[in-house]
Amino acid sequence: MASRAVDTGQAQTGDRLFARIGAFLAAHRLSPDPVHYAFAHEVLANADGVVARRVAAITDGGVRLTTQDITMLGGSTAAGAPIDTAPTDDDAPLTGDAESHQALMSRMMIQLDGFDDTMRVAHAEANDFGRDLQRSADTMRDMGAEAGIEAIAALTADMIERVHRAEEKLDSALRETEELRTALDEARGSARTDPLTDLPNRRAFDEAFAALHRDTAVTVAICDIDHFKRVNDNFGHAVGDRVIRMVAHTLAAEKGMMVARYGGEEFALLFEETRLDEATQIIERVRRTISERRPKVRETGESIGTISFSAGVAEGRVGEGRAALMARADAALYRAKDQGRARTITS
Ligand code: GH3
Ligand code: MG
Ligand code: MG
Repeated sequence: MASRAVDTGQAQTGDRLFARIGAFLAAHRLSPDPVHYAFAHEVLANADGVVARRVAAITDGGVRLTTQDITMLGGSTAAGAPIDTAPTDDDAPLTGDAESHQALMSRMMIQLDGFDDTMRVAHAEANDFGRDLQRSADTMRDMGAEAGIEAIAALTADMIERVHRAEEKLDSALRETEELRTALDEARGSARTDPLTDLPNRRAFDEAFAALHRDTAVTVAICDIDHFKRVNDNFGHAVGDRVIRMVAHTLAAEKGMMVARYGGEEFALLFEETRLDEATQIIERVRRTISERRPKVRETGESIGTISFSAGVAEGRVGEGRAALMARADAALYRAKDQGRARTITS
């Protein structure tokens, strides 16, 4: 068990570094070739190193690195030669908010598509080349047994062997880009998914809310598990996690709304074209379902007691901003807690 936990931790750290390398390459519009990867790895894995510090100095204020910078840094980090980098017009900062992160990821995907196409063309060309050479070698052999031709055939055979090796390299390059694409897809998905519950996270919720058309009638709710700290205190964090998952999955089983894990034991609900009373009915149904359960600690059979949550619901008003609507739902939740919990209050 212990070693599995360690493995998972290392894999997550690796994933994070991988995602940061991807973001670094995209931010600097560097092609995803091995030299750039190695450079990005050096910068990001060794934050206090000479190279990282030089890069920080160069990129201060959002200046983008060029391939020449990388060549120079790679060759002259110890000597510390001055590096001339002119800022470009459309420089994006190295790190940004959620939207620029998404833009960087999209750009990287486009770069990868280009790389993939190039590789496929190169692969086809190498195949053709190999076939032509094979044909020439066969022809030469058929022509007779003069010594000169034998020598040419041997030379050609050698070239064919080299082409095969090049093909193998291209094959592995193609495999690598496919793996990279999968990892990037996963990184993009995991940036918006809560790992404990598999629900969309707060960022995904905020993005989905922001993406709604301004004419869409919106109702939002915030649900917060009551006295959850007691569950942790009495039964431990792992059991607390299971309770969060149970509530998450019961909420998510209802159709017609987006359910996101908004915070620790807090969930945000987004209803489209749903009136306040309809949303309230759905929430109350989930609340009753959960309160009727008698969860037990799996390992010991010990009763956990009744789990309840409190909810605040608010229906959007004409001209009301997202933050204001969420604040009303939050205020309603606060009132639900104040009035004794295990209830849904509308705003
Ligand atoms: P209230 O009814 O007022 O909401 O009381 P509460 O105890 O639920 O609220 P409080 O905010 O005091 O405590 C929330 C606790 O949730 C504190 C924190 O340790 C715990 N928590 C937050 N995230 C997680 C998590 O992912 N797993 C577990 N097991 N506990 C968490
Ligand atoms: Mg809370
Ligand atoms: Mg709570």
